[in-house]
Amino acid sequence: MLSTPDFTEITPTAEVRTSTHGNRAKCLQRLVRLDLPVPKTVALRFETVRAIAGGRMPDIRALLDVFGQGALLSVRSSSQMPDWGGPGTILNIGMNDEKATELAATHGQSAADALYVSFIRAYAVDVLRLDADPFEGPITPRLAKSAFEAEMDEPFPQDPCEQLAEVLKSMARAWEGTTARLLRQAQGAPADAGLGLVVQEMALGIGQGLSGSGVVQFASPETGEAQVTGRWLPQAQGRAALSETDAQFIVSDKRGKSLEDVAPEQVAALKSAGALMRQRLREEMQIEFTLMNGHLSILDAVRCPRSGRAEVAVAVALAEDGIITTDEALLRIPPFTLNQLLHRQVSPIAARDVLTRGIAASPGAATGKIVFSASAAQAMAAQGEPCILVRRETSPEDIRGMHAAQAVLTERGGMTSHAAVIARGLGLPCVTGATRLMLDSRKKTLTVPGRKIFHEGDVITVDGSTGDVLAGAAEMVEPALGGAFATLMDWADAARDIGIRANADTPEDAAMAQRFGVDGIGLCRTEHMFFDPARLTVMREMIFAENPSDRAAALDRLLPMQRADFIELFQMMQGQPVTIRLFDPPLHEFLPGDRDGIRALAEALDLPVSRVQSRIESLQEFNPMLGMRGVRLGVTVPEIYEMQARAIFEATIKASRKGAPVVPEIMIPLVSARREVELVKGRVDAIAAEVRSKTGQDFTYRLGVMVETPRAALRAGEIAEHSAFLSFGTNDLTQMTYGLSRDDAGRFMSAYVQQGVFPEDPFTQLDVDGVGELMHLGADRGRRARPDLIISICGEHAGQPSAIAFSRKAGFDYVSCSPFRVPVAKLAAAQLSI
Ligand code: PEP
Ligand code: MG
Repeated sequence: MLSTPDFTEITPTAEVRTSTHGNRAKCLQRLVRLDLPVPKTVALRFETVRAIAGGRMPDIRALLDVFGQGALLSVRSSSQMPDWGGPGTILNIGMNDEKATELAATHGQSAADALYVSFIRAYAVDVLRLDADPFEGPITPRLAKSAFEAEMDEPFPQDPCEQLAEVLKSMARAWEGTTARLLRQAQGAPADAGLGLVVQEMALGIGQGLSGSGVVQFASPETGEAQVTGRWLPQAQGRAALSETDAQFIVSDKRGKSLEDVAPEQVAALKSAGALMRQRLREEMQIEFTLMNGHLSILDAVRCPRSGRAEVAVAVALAEDGIITTDEALLRIPPFTLNQLLHRQVSPIAARDVLTRGIAASPGAATGKIVFSASAAQAMAAQGEPCILVRRETSPEDIRGMHAAQAVLTERGGMTSHAAVIARGLGLPCVTGATRLMLDSRKKTLTVPGRKIFHEGDVITVDGSTGDVLAGAAEMVEPALGGAFATLMDWADAARDIGIRANADTPEDAAMAQRFGVDGIGLCRTEHMFFDPARLTVMREMIFAENPSDRAAALDRLLPMQRADFIELFQMMQGQPVTIRLFDPPLHEFLPGDRDGIRALAEALDLPVSRVQSRIESLQEFNPMLGMRGVRLGVTVPEIYEMQARAIFEATIKASRKGAPVVPEIMIPLVSARREVELVKGRVDAIAAEVRSKTGQDFTYRLGVMVETPRAALRAGEIAEHSAFLSFGTNDLTQMTYGLSRDDAGRFMSAYVQQGVFPEDPFTQLDVDGVGELMHLGADRGRRARPDLIISICGEHAGQPSAIAFSRKAGFDYVSCSPFRVPVAKLAAAQLSI
């Protein structure tokens, strides 16, 4: 048995570690320990490979002696983590004239020639990096050798020692290449990650009797269900069976020939090897095997490739079978994997014709015909045609179009722009900030530099999971929410120690939130209830009212609509907490922006177009996000908040009568001063008293504040005196802390991130250093003033694992995120608590 500082023969007791020899070497040792038929294997540790790359070759002769005279060898890479990659496998090292003659006698001339040519080709192209052309096509060993000599000015090396040394050197150096380094660092590898190598005696797969090679796994790569999947190719080596069209199935199959038909015992042995690996390696493995004259060898086993859905199914099945614990199942799944289960996705094996790339603002993918306006989207939907709404950016007017579309694509905007927030709420794939697109909504064209001009009706695919915009239709895979997914969510609920609520604006959102099993609604943005066309008109009347009595009349018409919304929401949430945020956006967002819309509004209000136009102009602001919105509206036009409070209290009474008692939570947006809270609180309390006395019914409610301005965080102590809860609105808080427009930052964000100004887009990843410090200050000051203060976060960051980690550490009570982010948030929260 060979064991030197450089070489370790893999035996059950040899010292082989993932941290020194890599993942493949360790896995092979486990297979050896399980007494599986693994050919003789020697592992090279990271340091040895690093030395080889640096020009110090170990004693290759000693290594070859382990395998004996005339053995053919393979070399495989063995990085510490499988995802970190490594150079490709080289087979048949040791092949030379003498060996070819010997093999011709035992295996036949054509088998020997095929092996020799394939080794010369691999040696020339993959090891010495010569041009592939001279070695292409059906050539003989003689031609291959002369092509080699023509390129290298020396004969093809006959000495196995020289061959092996070159192979090891080339693989060691490939690992140090810049591209390989960048690729593995993108997978989380440290800068000094090492590569191990594994030298193994070939089990040929070519020769007399039943010979060939194959790959098999026992869980479906798509669904993770137990299923024998794989291919086998007679008279072949390596993983050829996976790419050759004439490969056969492993188990009996109606569709064609199978290995089981001719070698039932060997297939049974493979099945029991798979079962043994599952039990002892605690993982579903993919096995690479050969048969040589009927004799089975297992060459290698890797964690079987799988989709996100299969990942969940495999982990849950392993835990249900008692092979791993439920905690381990939870820890094995990267939270964002769940996005693949919640939405349709572009199939991982589909061809992708990428037109351009933007910000992956809402996950999932959809294909449809391009439309440039909300009305075109609705018209398209009415004809049953899937469509993609393409806009420079979206506004409340586009909501109906978004509902009608399969996905949304915007030229501007970022993670928290209007399109992104709404799309996430609707579970609609969305790409924002696709700044290379040139959109002409008047001509109805979309130009992608270097590509054709797209017109309305042309088909594209929006991949909101990657940010890609693809030409044409792409092959999709469907979502899967039952079975293993539901089980995993139950386990996550049992493990997590922070509340997860949903941001839900409509009964549909709430239904989705309920499906994902939330702890309540943490943010209901009430303005989204007014985008329905019928309501929008009344809303506009209210905005256009020139005196209090006209405004009161319009609000009286909005009241029953709001009440009905809240009753439905409360009933749906069955007594769970529901936080309703009072009206937030600037009023002009509800007014039409184009000529047609203005004319339609003039008709509806029976006013001249010029009056409507001048009123719209008078509502325009230079900086609306810092203007007349949020609580500032509540203070200056108090009737809106009063109507909303009345609707909430009346709905509370109605819903409590029919079901579980409702304790509504009313939240005031964009607060920056204690007095704002006092004023709104005074009016809300008065409305509550009025409703109580009018109905003779009692109810309780909680009033709280959204902390969205730096000043609110700094003055949280005095604000908390009047608040039962504080919820950090990190979208606005980020915007205002950085002085960075959440709607415009997409234009330069990638340049900022690329140049390292920001480590990440702060609208995507919570800025724990800056915004986080304000949150800590606010939470501490608030709690000091009011120890029973409930604290949460409800900006779009709330679904991000890093923001959940922050919130847990800061002792927040819950996070509230878009319904479709709830599963990711639950899993992340569970992982943090384990
Ligand atoms: C926020 O600002 O974080 C928030 C949740 O409110 P909105 O996104 O509606 O401004
Ligand atoms: Mg806000």
